[in-house]
Amino acid sequence: MNIASHMIQAGRDFGDHPSIAKGTTILLSYGELAHRVARLAGTLRHRCKLAAGDRVALILGNCPEYLELLYAVWHAGLIAVPINAKLHRNEFAYILDNSQTRTCFVSPNLADSVDQMESVIEVGSDEYREMLDGDALPLEPRDSDDPAWLFYTSGTTGTPKGAVLTHGNLLAMCKCYFADVDPESPWRAILHAAPMSHGSGLYALAYVMQAGCHVIPESGGFDASEVYALIRHWPGIAFFAAPTMVKRLLDHPDDEDTSNLKAIIYGGGPMYVEDCLAGLERFGPKLTQLYGQGESPMTITALNARIHADRDHPRWRHRLASVGVAQSAVDVRIADADDKHLPAGELGEILVRGETVMSEYWRNPEATAETLRNGWLHTGDIGVMDEDGFLTLMDRAKDLIISGGSNIYPREVEEVLINHPDISEVSVIGRPDREWGEIVVAYVVVADGSSVDVSALDAFCVDNLARFKRPRHYYFIEAMPKNNYGKVLKTTLRELDQDNF
Ligand code: AMP
Repeated sequence: MNIASHMIQAGRDFGDHPSIAKGTTILLSYGELAHRVARLAGTLRHRCKLAAGDRVALILGNCPEYLELLYAVWHAGLIAVPINAKLHRNEFAYILDNSQTRTCFVSPNLADSVDQMESVIEVGSDEYREMLDGDALPLEPRDSDDPAWLFYTSGTTGTPKGAVLTHGNLLAMCKCYFADVDPESPWRAILHAAPMSHGSGLYALAYVMQAGCHVIPESGGFDASEVYALIRHWPGIAFFAAPTMVKRLLDHPDDEDTSNLKAIIYGGGPMYVEDCLAGLERFGPKLTQLYGQGESPMTITALNARIHADRDHPRWRHRLASVGVAQSAVDVRIADADDKHLPAGELGEILVRGETVMSEYWRNPEATAETLRNGWLHTGDIGVMDEDGFLTLMDRAKDLIISGGSNIYPREVEEVLINHPDISEVSVIGRPDREWGEIVVAYVVVADGSSVDVSALDAFCVDNLARFKRPRHYYFIEAMPKNNYGKVLKTTLRELDQDNF
């Protein structure tokens, strides 16, 4: 099964339906898009002389060409390597080298950042336009187990690794989208405000299956006013957003008409319950959360819109603080350090198995053997499952703080502090300490126009948290260090912290 067969089908069945729009302007129908894909695929194989299984990198901001390139690569039996366009040129070089990529498509402003490549093609250039004149290629057959997408991990824990996602993994992910994340039809439009090299691009595949329209913001990224304007324009629109994006939408004045909005699917990092409640208040029951990782893309658990809206359930708030239940293509369990199953209520590492789990890390047998052990993906995330199967995520294993022999999960402390009205953002880390092993240290971004004093924060923690978990030191910073997907970089905070003691 070649995932690109969905594009051919959409072109046949819904040829005149809009496929790609920029802002409010429709650019292409599905018939036109499917033709462009087949011709581009022909050029990749014949003129560019790429052979089945060769890698093609996409270093592009969100743009109308993103989708035709992804599908042309798959149609031609090649492997896509979508790379976050905001990475540093050294990171581009590392990923291109590691994936042994020979051909790379770039946004016009990025051509100089990939000078070591044999073939760099600027999207929108004359060369690119000529590629669309090639002869259409028949679909290259692929097996479910054949690689389709090398998903480079965001590198919060070290050098990026390429999770090999197969055609079968991507199909299973799409099925989970319909079953667990956004079950109500019709699927009309998806707004790509988050990077298409990551969650938004992955979910694009489900919309191709349903011939939904892909809306690319004029800005090519996330801008809260633009998102509200596009919601006003496009009926039945949904989008994937990192929690920081949801927060920025909530910080925007509350007078926008969002009746067209179908769903905001958030995930990829922790969302504080307070923000979730504010989101429900602002948008109504249109929030869904997913928990996934590159190694099992967008698919470990989901907390769907109905559960978000089920205010009368006795455990509603607890459930909002969770990441939901296992998605339908996977088994999820909690295990101790020896992979032994842990019962409900006990904390341990989250393990996953099923159709969405990557086949391996690209050219990295050691990392593969460490992560895919005994038939299970070891996520490196720590969590606890309740009797009903709701999973609450604590932290990455390496972020756990052990102080005086007791485990302290930064998330618990952050969940308390974020409720303090003077705090806009907070991140908690462990600092090595002779007496305690580690102590808790908090980095805080103060809310606009507020000032806080440390004793007030300490008293607030004492009122809401076990004493031993409260931060011993507070540092006030202008902005939280984040990677290009908006994930807080605790590694950077730990480095910064070394200068503070
Ligand atoms: P990536 O592979 O770059 O998508 O990063 C995956 C990691 O992001 C996971 O292993 C989690 O640590 C974190 N993550 C993903 N989804 C969530 C979520 N809904 N809540 C909290 N953390 C999340």
